[in-house]
Amino acid sequence: MSRSVPSSRSIDTSAVHAAREDLAGLGVHVPPIDLSTTYPLPDVESGGDSYEQLATGGRLGGGASPVYQRLWNPTVARFEEALATLEEAEEAVAFGSGMAALSATLLATVAGGKPHVVAVRPLYGGTDHVLATGLLGTRVTWADARGVAGAIEPDTGLVVVETPANPTLELVDIADVVRQAGDVPVVVDNTFATPVLQRPLTHGARIVLHSATKFLGGHGDLMAGIVATDAEWAGRIRSIRALTGGLLHPLAAYQAHRGLQTLPVRVRAQQDSAQVVARWLAGHPRVRAVHYPGLPGCDPLGLVGTQLAGTGAVLAFEVESYAVAAATADSCRLIQHAVSLGGVDTLIQHPASLTHRPVAPEARPAASVLRLSVGLEDPRDLVNDLELALAAAHPAAQAAAHAAAAWVQAPV
Ligand SMILES: *Cc1c(COP(=O)(O)O)cnc(C)c1O
Repeated sequence: MSRSVPSSRSIDTSAVHAAREDLAGLGVHVPPIDLSTTYPLPDVESGGDSYEQLATGGRLGGGASPVYQRLWNPTVARFEEALATLEEAEEAVAFGSGMAALSATLLATVAGGKPHVVAVRPLYGGTDHVLATGLLGTRVTWADARGVAGAIEPDTGLVVVETPANPTLELVDIADVVRQAGDVPVVVDNTFATPVLQRPLTHGARIVLHSATKFLGGHGDLMAGIVATDAEWAGRIRSIRALTGGLLHPLAAYQAHRGLQTLPVRVRAQQDSAQVVARWLAGHPRVRAVHYPGLPGCDPLGLVGTQLAGTGAVLAFEVESYAVAAATADSCRLIQHAVSLGGVDTLIQHPASLTHRPVAPEARPAASVLRLSVGLEDPRDLVNDLELALAAAHPAAQAAAHAAAAWVQAPV
């Protein structure tokens, strides 16, 4: 079903019930998982019609055969319908990862004859990388959030922004970028905020993108990506998925759909802890700066409370050097040193070495920055762990100071 009418229910209720309304009628309590790779065809003619419809980006019509899993899967379609409801989108299209979702979106604009992309940095390292290399046939102009209008060209097909941005939590005014973009569709990567805190389509964006690997899944045990948009763009992106095959596995779709049920509760609880940790870090004598939308100076445009309904569960902080940052990450015990974010357990990582390693030096996060994704632990235990790690990092940092990795300074 397409979601042309936004649900009037609260997001907490929608998160629990979206795309589950038919289950009682089916005599089950949770969604069935359909693992079929192929489907019986009623006859050649109607099978051929279904194939044609799905391969060109259409949706499965009543009673038609899904034909083949790469074209349509009912378990994946449930997750898509649920996320579309939460994002107030007409439709959504799910992929095997966030990067597959982004790739399909970029290919859709290339296929439409508009290969130029205006991108506002900072962006997730993988997004930056795929745009910088032009691997998918796009050509990029980097712009800052106020310079989007000036970067638009006749063949600009997309404007790409991320807010809050990975890893340093800069906030971009979506409505302002949409105004500058004019007729050009704006894609917002909403991975950090989730629809619980921000619904970019309500601010004029045309496409919302998620790495569902992060908060939507929420437990560090699935990879998925999803794009929520209007029916026209969903069709274009679905046809790219049918052709290029970046589809989501139905088991992961089931898990992601289940993850949505606890999304509002997790995001708010993790946000509460992140606020405690951010304030504590801001008062720590060894911490040079904390980047977190709730802190003074981090929201110059006043977007918290208007565009963004909360401050989220991810923060970044700066210590005095690369060596101290590396030693701090290595010295955490409860907090795991690992990439990714948005799960129930707290993770710390060094963006310049890892998630943002491919980014050009002038746009790469500073080597003294660490990113923290706050989970559901008691924040007092997180603060204790960080306290010990920061203390341990200082002697270690002095010893390691001479060995700081040369590539961090070197141009690529
Ligand atoms: C992780 C991430 C991605 C990429 O998603 P994958 O699921 O890892 O492919 C894109 N955008 C943001 C903001 C991310 O954090």
